[in-house]
Amino acid sequence: MITAALEKGDGKEFVSHAPGYWSNTAPELWNDWKWQLKNRVTTLAQLEKHVELSEVERSGVLLSGDKLALAVTPHFFNLVPRDNPEDPIRRQVIPRIEETWTSPYDMADPCGEDSHMPVPGLVHRYPDRVLFLVTDRCASYCRYCTRSRVVSGVGEQELHTNFEEAFRYLEAHTEVRDVLLSGGDALIFSDDRLDKLLSRSRAIKHIEFLRIGTRVPIFLPQRITPQLCALLAKYHPLWMSVHVNHPRELTIEVKNALERLANAGIPLGNQSVLLSGVNDDLETMKTLVHKLLMCRVRPYYIYQCDLINGSSHLRTSVAKGIEVIEGLRGHTTGYAVPQFVIDAPGGGGKVPINPGYILYHDNEKIVIRNYEGKIFEYPETGNANVQFAPQREYHDEYLYS
Ligand SMILES: *Cc1c(COP(=O)(O)O)cnc(C)c1O
Ligand code: SF4
Repeated sequence: MITAALEKGDGKEFVSHAPGYWSNTAPELWNDWKWQLKNRVTTLAQLEKHVELSEVERSGVLLSGDKLALAVTPHFFNLVPRDNPEDPIRRQVIPRIEETWTSPYDMADPCGEDSHMPVPGLVHRYPDRVLFLVTDRCASYCRYCTRSRVVSGVGEQELHTNFEEAFRYLEAHTEVRDVLLSGGDALIFSDDRLDKLLSRSRAIKHIEFLRIGTRVPIFLPQRITPQLCALLAKYHPLWMSVHVNHPRELTIEVKNALERLANAGIPLGNQSVLLSGVNDDLETMKTLVHKLLMCRVRPYYIYQCDLINGSSHLRTSVAKGIEVIEGLRGHTTGYAVPQFVIDAPGGGGKVPINPGYILYHDNEKIVIRNYEGKIFEYPETGNANVQFAPQREYHDEYLYS
């Protein structure tokens, strides 16, 4: 088993890796987000110019190209070491032959999004909020992407978002108060395009809350320009969820970008995916959540890896996620503790998965344990509920059937 344990000091500091493999590049180019996008590492030859690939990776690059494209921004690529194929950053963005394996649990659309799209590109699963897939492109591609069926444009399906129809749907559905722009990654759009998208969304009176799910501040911190921040600030309340899995991703440049967003009044949350050999380890996660707080980002979710095709080598046990939460809750700042969730396969939505703090519960009392394992009782008074019965019945049925 690969261990993701941090070596002493590894990843704990905010450091810059620039210019790294691009030592001949002028800083004006390096700091230009369009240059970063144009100069992404996308081919085997470009990869091999910088790093020594293992056989597992080389065949992965050759064989997984019709599943999800390879692309890594120079900024993020500088986190990839020359000679360690098991490196936690490398495992996230460099294809491996295991991606071509099929596990019996693998699915093309693990969260059942296609069946919850009233309009192409708009996923309406929960009563009051929608997920709006505004593009299929990202700054770099994560090998475990839950939307790899459409993301990057090479997979088995294409994303055909119908913007006009989507906006008409949103206008007609007054119950939608929260719109989450995702994809792909909306921050790949030009300022102008983003401005139009946000102003059109804001023009709908019943939409109270806008948010953007993005990994751009991590893959491409150069994109977070003062102009972009000023643009986003016009559409408050606007929140943002970023996506960081390993503490080393939080470089100086990323920290500064997150600070610019926070200074623009944008509340920041983080979503991590629990990944084998990347962050399936309490010490790594603890370092990550502490660094996130220093960047003014509140850890929001840890996802159990979705059952996306070709991700079995990156998936961990559910028990590992529970162990991580158990090791954080009570032991460190409450703000640093995310909610561990499984996005229920087939389209059940996010289900919170918690360590068992309730030992017993009936109409008279609840018996609980704290983070140290000490046991406490609290009386159940007044209109004690009967909500537990159906749950228990279901549980029995499930156990004995
Ligand atoms: C994750 C998700 C949301 C947002 O969920 P929150 O728990 O409110 O962050 C909305 N719609 C879909 C389809 C999602 O997958
Ligand atoms: S940034 Fe998000 S949408 Fe893009 S490849 Fe990574 S996980 Fe998928």
